[in-house]
Amino acid sequence: MPQASYADSHRLSIEQPEVFWAEQAQRIVWQQPFSRVLDFSQPPFARWFVDGTTNLCFNAVDRHLLQRPDQPALVYISTETGQETSYSYRQLHAEVNRCAAVLRAQGVGKGERVIIYMPMIAEAIFAMLACARLGAIHSVVFGGFASHSLASRIDDARPKVLFTADAGMRGGKAIHYKPLVDEALKLAQHPPQSVIIVDRGIDQNLQRVPGRDLDYATLREQHLQASVDVEWVESSHPSYILYTSGTTGKPKGVQRDTGGYAVALATSMQYIYGGQAGDCMFTTSDIGWVVGHSYIVYGPLLAGMTSIIYEGTPVRPDAAIWWKIVEQYQVRVMFSSPTAIRVLKKQDPACLMRHDVSSLKSLYLAGEPLDEPTARWISDALRVDVIDNYWQTETGWPILSAQPGIEPLPKKFGSPGKPVYGFNVKLLHEASGEPVADEEKGVLVIKPPLPPGCLSTVWGDDARFVKTYFSNFHQQVYSSFDWARRDADGYYFILGRADDVINVAGHRLGTREIEEALSSHAGVAEVAVVGVADELKGQVVAAFVVAKDAASVADATGHQALEKALMATVDQQLGAIARPAKIHFVALLPKTRSGKLLRRSIQALAEGRDPGDLTTLDDPGALEQVRQALLNPAG
Ligand code: ATP
Ligand code: MG
Repeated sequence: MPQASYADSHRLSIEQPEVFWAEQAQRIVWQQPFSRVLDFSQPPFARWFVDGTTNLCFNAVDRHLLQRPDQPALVYISTETGQETSYSYRQLHAEVNRCAAVLRAQGVGKGERVIIYMPMIAEAIFAMLACARLGAIHSVVFGGFASHSLASRIDDARPKVLFTADAGMRGGKAIHYKPLVDEALKLAQHPPQSVIIVDRGIDQNLQRVPGRDLDYATLREQHLQASVDVEWVESSHPSYILYTSGTTGKPKGVQRDTGGYAVALATSMQYIYGGQAGDCMFTTSDIGWVVGHSYIVYGPLLAGMTSIIYEGTPVRPDAAIWWKIVEQYQVRVMFSSPTAIRVLKKQDPACLMRHDVSSLKSLYLAGEPLDEPTARWISDALRVDVIDNYWQTETGWPILSAQPGIEPLPKKFGSPGKPVYGFNVKLLHEASGEPVADEEKGVLVIKPPLPPGCLSTVWGDDARFVKTYFSNFHQQVYSSFDWARRDADGYYFILGRADDVINVAGHRLGTREIEEALSSHAGVAEVAVVGVADELKGQVVAAFVVAKDAASVADATGHQALEKALMATVDQQLGAIARPAKIHFVALLPKTRSGKLLRRSIQALAEGRDPGDLTTLDDPGALEQVRQALLNPAG
């Protein structure tokens, strides 16, 4: 394929999307060719590769059997159980066929839903690929969610089967899944007929409901030699439903197609992630998140790479574990999140030096704003390119990337770069809907058609899809609900969510800008900024800071000194208007299980309100920290 420059390819992808994507579509195997590249006759719904039939599992697995049958496809590493298992493409193919046969025997066929509520074990991926093989629709529910969240997703997806395990492990502690599943099935209006359980032997007290609960190992034995035909599906056939992580309210079932997704991911593997067949990729996310779907499972396998699936934390047995894995498996491409890197930043710096990470070409980070100090710290320590990329569960792959094309783009710290192929990104003025000038703040929107790989609709609710994403700005564009600005060189800077705006005496301030300023101070490890209602000013700025050295703020003197220094930093960088009225020191910030700050809950507490729905909260202790800090502002 000719390798045009980023600028030329991006222009082509916007001006002649059908030409651009017809070419990219050659990256995957079609059983029957598509008759049209794009059907956009019913905007905002876009159908890509109309009439083409394909299969995600075939493209991710079967297709590699000829060229690389013995190359590792998946390497499963658990620092929780000490297990380490490698599966070649041939072995992966066999496991997926067995799992598909098991699911088929339970009545799972084309279009049927399967909920996968699993820890990070290889069987979770076998189940995803088995669904794809059968043309069934998987919905992976993050294993950290409790019964209530699971039940609401079950009722929305109405699965035939729920695929689970006895337990997951986190930081050396077992999390028993089965009691949560039982509770969820009691709460649910539409429980599945059967529950298939991978018994890891962690829950010694595993209870089974006769007639409903089945043991995966037993069923697998019955299908050891299974060969299950691939179900070729039309390109628009849903491959999966993934509920958004819910930082901002009721989760939505993001529905993904098959053909468009495969093409988008295959394209991204070359242009954005630079992953070649045979290379090893290590994505530290969880299969319950979109990053896991796209870059633990489908992306690397479509590209014929080796993908690492990791169960464990970044700091156990110590903070060198990820770099040990990089060295051992000669990882070339790594993908993680800013939160994880900030966790590592608080650990012993020697951990970063212990292993030879020279195989690593680049480290991709996504999911939340990547502040400059964190980016610089990890980039200097590892001597690799750190590449920020910005996207959403809805888009399935990056909208913006610091490496958007084939040639390297000069980096600007703090910016996730430029629009990726197919994404026609605009920044619009919140009120007028007009494009904003360079350096001005606007809402980041995408002019449809959304490129291949993005959500086709909200599962079972076309009206909600249109209403949620396309009702602002005269129904003309997809709204990301994020603020951004663009500089004169065309680089974008994400300024936070559209609802994360603080209005101080009529001045609109993004939480992100103030957080950036605060975290530029050397004494700060992490920070959350929220607006708190104020009679005089409308809102005032409150900052919650995790100090790099907890001892430095342990007494009132240290507390006041750092507070003063931080206020001066904000004054200097943004002006006194953005200065926090109060800085609270905490040891931990409340986050979702996916590592996103729960600013709404912090704000609620700061205003003396109920913190709201906490089902996605990672560590309840963090909210308590905020509560205590508010009660005892002197530190
Ligand atoms: P919900 O939509 O249910 O409230 P969510 O938006 O947290 O949940 P995701 O789709 O996982 O769920 O997160 C996407 C959001 O994460 C983006 O809209 C943006 O706010 C933020 N984000 C992702 N990547 C970046 C990045 N590189 N820089 C800044 N922000 C990012
Ligand atoms: Mg969102």
